[in-house]
Amino acid sequence: MSAAISRRRAGEDADVIVVGAGPAGSTAATYLARAGLDVLLLEKGAFPREKVCGDGLTPRGVKQLIDLGIDTREEAGWLHNKGLRVVGGGITMELDWPDLATFPPYGVVRPRQDFDDMLARTATRAGARLQENTTVTGAVTDDRTGRVVGVSAKTGPGKTPVSYRAPLVLACDGVSARLALSVGLDKIDTRPMGVAVRRYYASPRSKDDYLESHLELWDRSDPANPVLLPGYGWIFGMGDGTVNVGLGILSTSKAFGSTDYRQLLRSWLDGTPEEWGFREHNATSKIGGAALPMGFNRTPHYRDGLMLIGDAGGLVNPFNGEGIGYAMESARLAAEVVIQALARAEGPAREKALNGYPVALKQALGSYYRLGNIFSQLIGNPTVMALATKYGLPRKTLMKLVLKLLAGLYDPKDGDAFDRVITAATKVAPSL
Ligand SMILES: Cc1cc2nc3c(=O)[nH]c(=O)nc-3n(C[C@H](O)[C@H](O)[C@H](O)COP(=O)(O)OP(=O)(O)OC[C@H]3O[C@@H](n4cnc5c(N)ncnc54)[C@H](O)[C@@H]3O)c2cc1C
Repeated sequence: MSAAISRRRAGEDADVIVVGAGPAGSTAATYLARAGLDVLLLEKGAFPREKVCGDGLTPRGVKQLIDLGIDTREEAGWLHNKGLRVVGGGITMELDWPDLATFPPYGVVRPRQDFDDMLARTATRAGARLQENTTVTGAVTDDRTGRVVGVSAKTGPGKTPVSYRAPLVLACDGVSARLALSVGLDKIDTRPMGVAVRRYYASPRSKDDYLESHLELWDRSDPANPVLLPGYGWIFGMGDGTVNVGLGILSTSKAFGSTDYRQLLRSWLDGTPEEWGFREHNATSKIGGAALPMGFNRTPHYRDGLMLIGDAGGLVNPFNGEGIGYAMESARLAAEVVIQALARAEGPAREKALNGYPVALKQALGSYYRLGNIFSQLIGNPTVMALATKYGLPRKTLMKLVLKLLAGLYDPKDGDAFDRVITAATKVAPSL
């Protein structure tokens, strides 16, 4: 199907090369292949493969699955949840996902091992050519113009060096951002980063209608001086007898970098009730961890034939650490732009279309992420964090607003009073 209207020229291996088949890459590849483009999707691993994650999607992420045509009913293997249970300051509060026009009223949980495999298969069904066991080592650039014209890689069991050429390359290679780094696109250190760790346990808490988040994470490594950390712990029931438990911390606190996150996870879980089962003998995996690149921490999102999508472009939400839905959302925006651009002749007209991607990202998320970056700075201050937990948590009405803000769940048009407050705040905040 894709070959029929491929615009490939001699010496090119595809219309578009997509590097990385996580949520960003598989989503972009699906949209592009459905539009008839010849897509080469390069992935260093082989599916099904593990990805360290919390495995949770808010309704904002579910919307992206629905847009992609994925069946998100429980019958199709998704565990639905109806809201967030917030625990902190001696209080437990269940907040249902808001009732909105823009987003569905439910979130989902699904192990990434299965989730990413399903998305990659969606891409191949659409016609994308997935090549596994292929590690991209860097961009191939035109000697004269410096433009990205392909990628170099090592493929197969023998790690055979290869290179592939295409007029456009999409970097969907996650937080390592090897491709972006190969052309000098470093991360912006003034933007927030997070670190998150997680582990699976066999637990009676496996079936849960709510995603649970614990807002008080204390670093007690110096018993004389416990520090309230900016971040949260989560308990996400997987519905299969296991639970995904983890924690994420923001880079804006003094403790960042000096904290032993695995130890922090252990000491938090040791303090949870015995009957929840979060003890060594019930662990069904090792502790895994990774960084969370937030708030557009790598830009420009398009330059000289290379687009940055998902974690590679710092697309994690700085309010809550959610990244799957935003990887998919940025992939959808990128695909729309690429489809238009490749229908134009190479040259200024095509470049004009391609430069529409950073503009579309800014319009969709720029102001909201700027607010998020400010928020992450504020809660990096332990005094602000302590005040927020003490005075914010007990107020359910306030917490409903906070949930909408933190999870990006508001109707920008025709919403309720809370939605109007958040929309107004994003309008006041300049875009990133
Ligand atoms: C502990 C933890 C918990 C999290 N919990 C949640 C959560 O509950 N909900 C949520 O929404 N987000 C969560 N996140 C964030 C989320 O995991 C990421 O934001 C999301 O996976 C980003 O998708 P992506 O496609 O951009 O990158 P990735 O999912 O990282 O995919 C990148 C892909 O590229 C491949 N790749 C990498 N380098 C190369 C290369 N050189 N050549 C070829 N292929 C390559 C990788 O193998 C991978 O398949 C969590 C993150 C962590 C670390």
